[in-house]
Amino acid sequence: MHDLHSHSARSDGYLLPADLVAQAAEQGVITLALTDHDTIDGLVEASESAQHAGIELVAGVEISVTWGNCTLHIVGLAFDRMNDTLVQGLADLQAIRAKRAESIGAKLAKLGVENAHERAQALAGDGQIGRVHFARVLIEAGVCRDMQHAFKHYLKPGRNGFVRVNWAGLEQAIDWIHAAGGLAVLAHPLGYHFSANWRRKMVAAFVEAGGDAMEICTGTTTTDDISRMGRVAAAYGLYGSLGSDFHSPEQHWLALGRVAPLPSYLTPIWQAPSFSPMTPGCPHSRQ
Ligand code: AMP
Ligand code: MN
Ligand code: MN
Ligand code: MN
Repeated sequence: MHDLHSHSARSDGYLLPADLVAQAAEQGVITLALTDHDTIDGLVEASESAQHAGIELVAGVEISVTWGNCTLHIVGLAFDRMNDTLVQGLADLQAIRAKRAESIGAKLAKLGVENAHERAQALAGDGQIGRVHFARVLIEAGVCRDMQHAFKHYLKPGRNGFVRVNWAGLEQAIDWIHAAGGLAVLAHPLGYHFSANWRRKMVAAFVEAGGDAMEICTGTTTTDDISRMGRVAAAYGLYGSLGSDFHSPEQHWLALGRVAPLPSYLTPIWQAPSFSPMTPGCPHSRQ
């Protein structure tokens, strides 16, 4: 079973890469991609752990992209993690994340949440800081009752704790992934609160920019979602991808590897000629 979208504590997931891999193996996952937001720092640890657990680890990342006024997520898979273009691109995004976190902290301070930046930074540790860490601070401070509440009232666009930034461009992100020999996947295409018309434009722009695949099945897609987006992917000749988008064991409705199979008329991304797992212990070989 494949799960090609998951998060560790190197970004906004809760498990260390090694523990994430162990849990994936327990759930029967055979091929796992670790796809942390804008960082590939967890890949080596995950790949070593995957070797022990007897499963395959695919190099992955979920790149934040600004498209028009919106943020899109482009998953990169099966790339060379040593590639300079990709590494430099991600370093730029990490700097944007760090700066954004300071601004979010300042905004929350104005709303009376003290030391929000320091506290979020402590939760993020040496991983990439994100809005989930601020949501956890808001919950711990008793300001919000849960994640949904924190995003809905403080952290989403239009709310007082939201800070708009310019992430990577769509073409730019796809180019970084391709420069590193990887495949670019449009993540959770139904997850952007777009009208049908904008969704069509997004898919067309992704294809135009050279994208390779679309995520058809995630931990939360319905049968209807799968057939709708499956047909779109087929019409564009895109590979199909799938992944739980697992962040935390507390999300009990979502487990590693618990994803519906791809529609049979789509070619799975793991059948792409360039798709291969990482080889542990060979830092200078491909991946
Ligand atoms: P960031 O990349 O730091 O802006 O944060 C984006 C992440 O926030 C997503 O990958 C999710 O993990 C999380 N997220 C976004 N919206 C919500 C929401 N409504 N409820 C819970 N988590 C959310
Ligand atoms: Mn996330
Ligand atoms: Mn995402
Ligand atoms: Mn994700």
